[in-house]
Amino acid sequence: MHGAPGAFAPSPVLPKVCPMRLLAALFLSTLAAPALARPVVETPWGVPDAAKKPVKAVQTTLSGLSEPRLKLEAQPGGPRVALTFDACSGKTDERIFSTLVSNRIPATIFATARWIRHNPETVAVLKANPDLFQVENHGAEHIPAVDRPGFVYGIATAGSPQAVAAEVTDGAAAITAAGFPAPKWFRGATARYSLSAEAEISRLGFRLAGYSLNGDDGASASAATAEHRISKAGDGAVILSHINQPTHSAGEGVVRGILALKARGTVFVRLSDATEVEGGTAGR
Ligand SMILES: [Zn+2]
Repeated sequence: MHGAPGAFAPSPVLPKVCPMRLLAALFLSTLAAPALARPVVETPWGVPDAAKKPVKAVQTTLSGLSEPRLKLEAQPGGPRVALTFDACSGKTDERIFSTLVSNRIPATIFATARWIRHNPETVAVLKANPDLFQVENHGAEHIPAVDRPGFVYGIATAGSPQAVAAEVTDGAAAITAAGFPAPKWFRGATARYSLSAEAEISRLGFRLAGYSLNGDDGASASAATAEHRISKAGDGAVILSHINQPTHSAGEGVVRGILALKARGTVFVRLSDATEVEGGTAGR
């Protein structure tokens, strides 16, 4: 606690308060109310996930955020697709991962520091297959790279430029510490950004990894939906799916979709192997 000495000493007389300051204080207290709605108990390992979940009523996603689109440049020589997988936290979806390895299908994995810490066996396989896997930066703690306070899909944002920078640079540091080449791309949690955070990420030396096709709705899609979307991917698609939800049925559909693309003769490329075009808003 910081404060002037004696700040909490009892005062016999109530201080005179300017009415405007009182109104401002009341207004600020209503803003702070949602944060006080749930007591957060910090453990030696940090704030528990359950405690981080905000109360439903205050989870409205911030407005004015961008969701950049990324697509591969058209080239002669058959359809090309970039599979990108977010490894947010939790475990490894072995259904997807073993399909990629056994079929020698290249992919770009966006990993958080948190996921790297909890998946050493997968990390070893990723490192053993540098011809297949490019590992890029999904942040340190899976905090949306938005530099003002609020929520995106119910996840609290970084909230300040400094916190955005920490999420980006600490995520990159975890990747190099694990023995991978230094990442060049960044995709933040939720793939949404404030424009000023985008500028900060660029200043830190990272390219923003958008996407053009949402494969699995954050692993919440049904297997049939994920299969349908991915199997219909057109030439140049940058597909975003998740490789960290082994218990969700979406993963089965992701596997079937990838194998359908392979059967059609699709060439799979990593972001480092492709010339890409950016601009517009991501979609399905
Ligand atoms: Zn994620």
